[in-house]
Amino acid sequence: PTAASGGLNPSEKDRQRPLPKLPLTRLPGWPTEFPENLTEHREQVLQRHWPTLHDKHVAEIAPFVWHHRGIAEELQEKAQSPDREESEWAYREMARLGVVPYYGERANASFVVLIRNRELDEFRTSMRQLEDRFNRKYHYPYLFLNDEPFSDEFMQMVAASTTSNVTFALIPRDHWSLPDFIDEQRAERARKQMAANNVIYGGSLSYRHMCRFNSGFFYKHPLLRNVDWYWRVEPGVDFYCDIDYDPFKYMAENGKLYSFVIALKELEATVPTLWEHTLKYMKERNVTSELLQYFVGRTGNYNLCHFWSNFEIASLNWLRTPEYQSYFEYLDQAQGFFMERWGDAPVHSLAAGLLLRRDQVHFFDDIAYRHAEITHCPDTTSSVELGLKCQCPLGVDNFDNHSDSCLPAWKSYEPNTWSLKDT
Ligand code: GDP
Ligand code: MN
Repeated sequence: PTAASGGLNPSEKDRQRPLPKLPLTRLPGWPTEFPENLTEHREQVLQRHWPTLHDKHVAEIAPFVWHHRGIAEELQEKAQSPDREESEWAYREMARLGVVPYYGERANASFVVLIRNRELDEFRTSMRQLEDRFNRKYHYPYLFLNDEPFSDEFMQMVAASTTSNVTFALIPRDHWSLPDFIDEQRAERARKQMAANNVIYGGSLSYRHMCRFNSGFFYKHPLLRNVDWYWRVEPGVDFYCDIDYDPFKYMAENGKLYSFVIALKELEATVPTLWEHTLKYMKERNVTSELLQYFVGRTGNYNLCHFWSNFEIASLNWLRTPEYQSYFEYLDQAQGFFMERWGDAPVHSLAAGLLLRRDQVHFFDDIAYRHAEITHCPDTTSSVELGLKCQCPLGVDNFDNHSDSCLPAWKSYEPNTWSLKDT
């Protein structure tokens, strides 16, 4: 299959689109003047609109930080200038001040956060860093998803952490429930067995719903229908370096469809038959691949390498291709999301192996990231040279050099057309 093409060249598209009029308000009844007192204004807006927003369970808080009336008005005028360069400059300047999102050259993208109410505090640390290190300049919106209603506290605290749009939404019931072809009792026995074997999350049903949702459903959420790119963010992660460019645009402009910062070995007990089903799928559908061999171990088995999906910047259009869909559905029918404990990380990774070329997968070396006890940092000399303003903790192991890291194998991997005959 060829690259999913939708949305691959947003900068060209943006260039042809007339500049939008500045959205002074996003919700009916909002003042069109720049408010004198921001805190008060924000309070009023929340009080006035919160009940209805909450009722619908979908809230959109527009950016309403107007720094300085005079500057903003002048810039706003310049933004409408027929001189392309001047207007782009004005937009960039306003984005820098946090007055508007930068429409001119941004990608059509969103952060996507699947999360529970009780993870608010850990998420705020992730979000604070992401905002300070990157998004305060770019103003990409956030979409928060939950299988249960978000609490008022959660929505208010999160909305207060950014001037970008935030949307809170429920997951459709049928994206988070046992499919009817699953025998509930068998599934329960499988969970008990895995828990008895001390497999992490082995006994958890909700974890399995989460993995299946992230494998085959999140990108179908109605609120992402017109969005091309996503960046997955989890609670409790750290971003240690400034991100001084737009990774979404990098992906779009360089023909990338999937990306990672950490690649490692999966726990075998969670995916005993995933590889076998993947090969069966490959055979049935006659897929040839130049990347799957990256995942082949010495004896033709799965080497358990996968891209860690708690960080992910990737193309929604790729996940929405019939090819990805059919692979997911094949795996779903094989029942391993419930009878085993297939993670979305190996599923996304093997899908990339089947469907993408090596050059469509990007390793973001310059995004320093920690999830749980695993950290990736660019090496010190290069991060200093690149001026990334990093704060990678001293003495913390860079996972890149660890024996369980699949990064060295990635770096030395040569694209290779591979077929079942080679197993
Ligand atoms: P780990 O990274 O594999 O240890 O798993 P996590 O507990 O971090 O879960 C992965 C992501 O899914 C995180 O963003 C969680 O907040 C989210 N998540 C996990 N289980 C649930 C759940 O039952 N409901 C919701 N709404 N989110 C969940
Ligand atoms: Mn996690």
